[in-house]
Amino acid sequence: MPLGPNRGAGARAIGPAALLSAPAFLAIAVALACVFGILSRPVGYLATVWPANAIMLGILIRMPAAARASGWLAGAAAYMAVDLATGSTVFKAALLNSANLAGVATAYYVFSFLPDEMKTLRQPASVLYVVIASTLAAGMAGIFGAIANPILFNGGMLRGFAFWFASEFVNYLGILPVILAAPPIRTMRSWRLRRRSQLSWRLPQPALALALSCLVAGTIGGPGAIAIPVPALLWCGLAYGVFGTAMLTLAFTIWSLVVISAQFAVDPAGKVDQNALISGRLGASLIALAPIMVAIVMRNQADLLRRLRLLASRDQLTGSENRRSYYAKTTQIVETGAARLALLMIDLDHFKAINDTYGHASGDEVLATFADRARSCLRRSDLLGRLGGEEFAVSAPDCSIEEASAIAERIREACGATPIRLGDGRLVTVTASIGVAITTAPRATGVDAVLAAADAALYRAKAKGRDRIEISTEAIPHRTTSPGSTVPSKLAFTPLRGR
Ligand code: GH3
Ligand code: MG
Ligand code: MG
Repeated sequence: MPLGPNRGAGARAIGPAALLSAPAFLAIAVALACVFGILSRPVGYLATVWPANAIMLGILIRMPAAARASGWLAGAAAYMAVDLATGSTVFKAALLNSANLAGVATAYYVFSFLPDEMKTLRQPASVLYVVIASTLAAGMAGIFGAIANPILFNGGMLRGFAFWFASEFVNYLGILPVILAAPPIRTMRSWRLRRRSQLSWRLPQPALALALSCLVAGTIGGPGAIAIPVPALLWCGLAYGVFGTAMLTLAFTIWSLVVISAQFAVDPAGKVDQNALISGRLGASLIALAPIMVAIVMRNQADLLRRLRLLASRDQLTGSENRRSYYAKTTQIVETGAARLALLMIDLDHFKAINDTYGHASGDEVLATFADRARSCLRRSDLLGRLGGEEFAVSAPDCSIEEASAIAERIREACGATPIRLGDGRLVTVTASIGVAITTAPRATGVDAVLAAADAALYRAKAKGRDRIEISTEAIPHRTTSPGSTVPSKLAFTPLRGR
């Protein structure tokens, strides 16, 4: 934990809607949440749905531009305006909203010490910080509740504390994770598109299982019913993202508060058992944290795997596929049924002389620039790999020999026509020789035979004077191993030596 408050949540800030200033956005969100809380009172009389505090806290954390004096004032004004407009006295509104703001300020203070990755639920431990912040915020609201209960509602101080604490705790724990895990508004558009495509293959089973187990829990009833949806909730955590899981757990919390507590906290005569109600509320909201933690762990694991795969498949110097990955991906192109496959074998000319003249580091710069230029000559479906040293290969699926020659010519031209400017300002001209081979029956020939044919053509290009393209004219033999084999028959393909 950093020593001082960390106010820079900018990295993944939600960002205000373009037309509104951050304080205005905050005020509108708080006012709407207050109206929702007031309107839902008769429906959720046992649930005490009061989302305004968690929403204000979430906006302050995710939108640093709102976390200024003007934002706090706008939020406070929104609370007061809604209360006064719905018939509250100034004194009552001031007392209740002091409790609201004191809770929000307490939790905000806790979050101000946390790094951005904790504020946006990037780490599993962030869920624990949500619990700590919610506990302290609810405790602060509870103290105000202890004072307000005797004054406003003729109740006891302890009862006031317990009731306020429990309802604030539940609201913070349910709503805050949704806001913290929400994608930034400005990327919402592309996010929605991305999400839509993911949802199309994401299975609805976990969500359906959750709905079903909630139904079963409601039918069975009793104090244990609240735990019945736990397996389905954990499944949701495994299957969906953090934001999706947080939404589903919020739905579960609301359902459990409304349905389950109504069943076991109210006796047949309609008398509410306050202790059972508070206990049910706390239990339901804490149950909902485990699936969110699972979702965070799963997301981090997937991110790590993606990064490792990228590291394992890329050539660091040129950013192209490394030899292994190039071979694997080209084999995949063959196995997934490309109708044709053209392969280009590329070797930079007299590269040893470039190293000798300009130094090895400059040679590296030339290789990286060549790869950039070659990539700019490819179609979206083509693949550039660095086989080793100054040797590259291109896989171009489903293209004719003319198209393949045109790609090769573009690369040769892009390489040799414009000198490469080194970091120190010197200019280097490098040319490339390219061998091209094409198969119209990729599954029958396999990758190795086409690579060998392209390599033989490259050898001819070198022999004929370099800086040129040669097309393989020989028939490419069919392979003898079974086409379905996923194990490359010759992963260590060795291009012809001695050029
Ligand atoms: P040719 O036209 O016949 O291909 O001549 P060449 O000099 O390019 O061929 P040769 O295979 O003899 O030399 C390749 C050189 O590429 C030798 C090696 O030092 C250099 N090389 C291999 N890998 C790297 C690298 O990662 N960075 C740099 N700077 N040079 C490399
Ligand atoms: Mg060479
Ligand atoms: Mg070479």
